[in-house]
Amino acid sequence: MSTSLPISATGRRPARLLTQNSEMRRIGVWNWSLPAWAGRLADGRTYNTCPSAGICAQACYARRGTYTWPVVRAKHEANLVYVLDDLAGWQAAMVAELGARKFRGAWVRIHDSGDFFSSSYLQAWLDICRARPDANFYAYTKEVARFRALVEPDPPPNFLWVYSYGGIQDAALDSATDRVADVFPDEDAIAEAGWASQEASDLLAVLGPRLVGVPANRIPALLKRLAGRRFSSWQAEVDAERAVRRGRRHLQLVDNTRPDHSQQLAGKASPAHADQPRAA
Ligand code: SF4
Repeated sequence: MSTSLPISATGRRPARLLTQNSEMRRIGVWNWSLPAWAGRLADGRTYNTCPSAGICAQACYARRGTYTWPVVRAKHEANLVYVLDDLAGWQAAMVAELGARKFRGAWVRIHDSGDFFSSSYLQAWLDICRARPDANFYAYTKEVARFRALVEPDPPPNFLWVYSYGGIQDAALDSATDRVADVFPDEDAIAEAGWASQEASDLLAVLGPRLVGVPANRIPALLKRLAGRRFSSWQAEVDAERAVRRGRRHLQLVDNTRPDHSQQLAGKASPAHADQPRAA
């Protein structure tokens, strides 16, 4: 990741909005980044740039390593502050920056980290894509409902996206029809599942086959958490556990509101209900 990231004289407005790390430079892609997931800005405001993150937040590549370097974190937070405080100004600055010759025919990955955290922010990006038809844009996202409503009916022709598993909206994805990305333990697991790895180029996530396999980062602590699963199966386990807990709470509520409950509490339980199963 590039660390030469100047902040403008205003202190908060980044002088350059789009950056390139070495991997992205190799494939001609530019990056726009926000701080990953949840945090607190220097002025005390809290944020969550990934409101639909699920288990991915526990194995997030962007909450480790170079992303946590102070200069990198400061740049990402400055980007977010710009968006939060002056969405229209940020949008105009992005359109202006994308007018440079170097972006003609280039690709921009929207979000090296972070996601489309609000509808107005997503709409701003859709407007930017339309304002710069000579550039190409793509993104991974877990904002399924927001995309179904705001993007899918009329996407800009120069914007491609892939839904990524590991979020709280996974159940809304259909791997039979949606372009989807899943994190796998390794390349062998991707091949065994019959999915296509995007390891050779991140652009394969939107230009390659529709079922996109992403090999997990080789970080021991993350691999331990993944425990041989895919993000989709890990999230499905968590969703199922939550559903069971919700069901138990519901049963408890129903039980507590039964007409004879007050009698039971008063020691007058009806024999007919004495052996009824109770929620844990
Ligand atoms: S959505 Fe991406 S950036 Fe956000 S917490 Fe999940 S893995 Fe990290």
